[in-house]
Amino acid sequence: MSPVLDVRDLTKTYGEGEATVHALRGVSLTVERGDYVAIMGSSGSGKSTLMNILGALDVPTSGTYRLDGVDVSRLADRQLALARNRLIGFIFQAFNLIPRTSALANVELPLAYAGIKPRQRRRRALAALDVVGLAERARHEPNQLSGGQQQRVAVARALVTEPALLLADEPTGNLDTRSTEDVLTVFDQLNAAGRTIVIITHEPEVGARAKRLIRLVDGQIVHDVRQAPVFA
Ligand code: ADP
Ligand code: MG
Repeated sequence: MSPVLDVRDLTKTYGEGEATVHALRGVSLTVERGDYVAIMGSSGSGKSTLMNILGALDVPTSGTYRLDGVDVSRLADRQLALARNRLIGFIFQAFNLIPRTSALANVELPLAYAGIKPRQRRRRALAALDVVGLAERARHEPNQLSGGQQQRVAVARALVTEPALLLADEPTGNLDTRSTEDVLTVFDQLNAAGRTIVIITHEPEVGARAKRLIRLVDGQIVHDVRQAPVFA
């Protein structure tokens, strides 16, 4: 089976001439199915640039990127969008739930886009909410939920389509310690169930929970290490 992510010699350059910024300088990275990877680095190290490319939201200046065996660096916009919807579940720092819309309807939305029929949509969305421990809150709207609960709804929305990869950008950046722990526990459980997770984070205690820690400095990977499990 092909790796979930297979990235070779990625570079990304912004601007030109005097103003050229080399945001990524030759990043190579393979992530196998079932891994749990944290990417850390200081501000300006290239995390968002890498995240956008891994998430098929942007294309590299050079290098290749295979997502679940598909060479996405060669895809045109429309195909890129299709690959993204099919293969990646995104989790954002700011949750990005639709306001005044129930948790259930939020989680159903990606299935609606995928053309799944209402009854099956409902069943799968409820199952995903159950996985994150929020089945009883299915009818609540985002403003009736705590930050940690909202982020868990966002995790349910990300996993309901059964993507090859869960990709999270600073998922605990807006959460207090208690809610951070709740979300990290959900990630632990999802990974134990076989889900592949890549998260970008500033927080060392969040990075410590992953199985593998990658550190970016000035657009290059300087550390890539396996970590012993942490039992919180
Ligand atoms: P991080 O997310 O780790 O803070 P970024 O990937 O956002 O790092 O940025 C890496 C480098 O690329 C920085 O020097 C940043 O200023 C530059 N950069 C990022 N996006 C752009 C852009 N759209 N145009 C020009 N420079 C950019
Ligand atoms: Mg950033």
